[in-house]
Amino acid sequence: MTQLTSESPEIVTAQPLTVADRCDSCGAQAYVRVTLATGELLFCAHHGTKFREKLSGQALAWHDESSRLHD
Ligand SMILES: [Zn+2]
Repeated sequence: MTQLTSESPEIVTAQPLTVADRCDSCGAQAYVRVTLATGELLFCAHHGTKFREKLSGQALAWHDESSRLHD
């Protein structure tokens, strides 16, 4: 008999990024927050795009506010 461990995923309340949030790569204002198993990374729109492909396989959540740049 197999016991199913159905862990419900953690509900992450997406906190909006603020001007105090800075890109971990270049220090510019962050518009992307990547949640990994090991923690969170913040990226500007440029680095968010750059690391998207690399991290998309590991990211638990991808919070992208870069569309605000075009408002
Ligand atoms: Zn950056």
